Amino acid sequence: MKTDFTEVQRSNPLMQMMEENLRKCVHCGFCLPSCPTYSVLGDERESPRGRIYLIKDMLESRDAPNTETVSHVDSCLSCLACVSACPSGVDYQHYIDYARSYIEDHHQRPWFERFLRSLIVYIITHARFFRFVLRMARFAKPLSRFFSSKIFSVINMVPAELKVEKITNTAKIFPAKGLKIKRVSLLMGCAQNVLRPSINEATIRLLTRMNMEVVVTEGVGCCGALNHHIGKDSIARDLAKTNIDAWLTEFDQRGIDNIIVNAAGCGTEIKDYAYMFKDDLEYNEKAKKISNLTKDISELLSEHQLPSVSLSNQPNIIYHDACSLMYGQGITREPREHLKAVGFELTEIPGRHFCCGSAGSYNLLQPAMAETLKDRRLTLIDKVSKSNRASILATGNIGCLMQLASGTGLQVVHTVELLDWATGGLKPPN
Ligand code: SF4
Ligand code: SF4
Repeated sequence: MKTDFTEVQRSNPLMQMMEENLRKCVHCGFCLPSCPTYSVLGDERESPRGRIYLIKDMLESRDAPNTETVSHVDSCLSCLACVSACPSGVDYQHYIDYARSYIEDHHQRPWFERFLRSLIVYIITHARFFRFVLRMARFAKPLSRFFSSKIFSVINMVPAELKVEKITNTAKIFPAKGLKIKRVSLLMGCAQNVLRPSINEATIRLLTRMNMEVVVTEGVGCCGALNHHIGKDSIARDLAKTNIDAWLTEFDQRGIDNIIVNAAGCGTEIKDYAYMFKDDLEYNEKAKKISNLTKDISELLSEHQLPSVSLSNQPNIIYHDACSLMYGQGITREPREHLKAVGFELTEIPGRHFCCGSAGSYNLLQPAMAETLKDRRLTLIDKVSKSNRASILATGNIGCLMQLASGTGLQVVHTVELLDWATGGLKPPN
């Protein structure tokens, strides 16, 4: 693709990367069928290729972004399905990230929209506040249909029951049950530990039974993904720096073999810290080290023998790939192998994989598209569950779990909860 950037623009390393990316795109359109928003709307501007053109025009013009471009960038899920589909290696992930941050810096949204975007992300990433808001929202649930579609979708996502987390973000050590083979730091996450603390509890039970010492590292908090995905790069970078410093202190003072993440969206973000700080003289090497230490829980489990199976009559399972795990980290085989290894019968969802519409805070900011994608996904899942008598849906990301659970009668659980249950742990909560 021909580009028209000025020399001043080209002196910015990020803009240079954008230009390189643009030049790789040969307009073939192979990415279009993989795009969920294009599949729903059939509009070129709602496709990866269309967005690439719109962003190119926005960057070349150097004017404030127009509302049309902003709306088509906002409606991208950052699911990254198009990245896998592109034969030319266009780095769409960092291209759309840059566009979002450019829009954040150069476009003035209406005040209510600005307020809502900031508020939603602030609430989700502050555990105490988030828990308080969820409790309040449960009282409003019976009245949710009287609110606007955005507020309705927020309230509708609130789980019926909120369990108090037993393990918080404060420093803690969970010793290996037998002779220690590894020491790992578990990311507790922000939203996940409020919405479903049983995921971290199951992870710790499973890993300590596998003779790993699990630590919660003091000072590690939100990974920054939610802010990053709405263009608030400076907040995301500050959160990332705090985590990097805390993990490096743990690494230097007490030693850790890996950082373990059981929320796929957070894992994708932390593995990308190396890219986030690639031009930062102070944090470049530090960020690389943290990204290299980071593994999704399913990757760690693949390196070790799972504990012996103690459950009999395992139910049939349907497995839903979280986009952040499948496209963001290229992990599809490992969770399936683990579930089969502990005796679960696995059923695949037929057809092309499309995002369920969760995508960080997307389901709260773009509720109409998120609902359409959820319904599409659940229609396929329900069909499979009826023919295979599967009663449980497993996935590796809290966002997908909450999104799908809000529209199905199936029990929706995290993969690690099933692995823990089958090998001597607790039954996952409904
Ligand atoms: S990231 Fe997903 S929604 Fe966005 S353009 Fe690519 S395929 Fe479409
Ligand atoms: S598949 Fe890649 S090269 Fe082809 S139009 Fe999409 S982004 Fe461009």
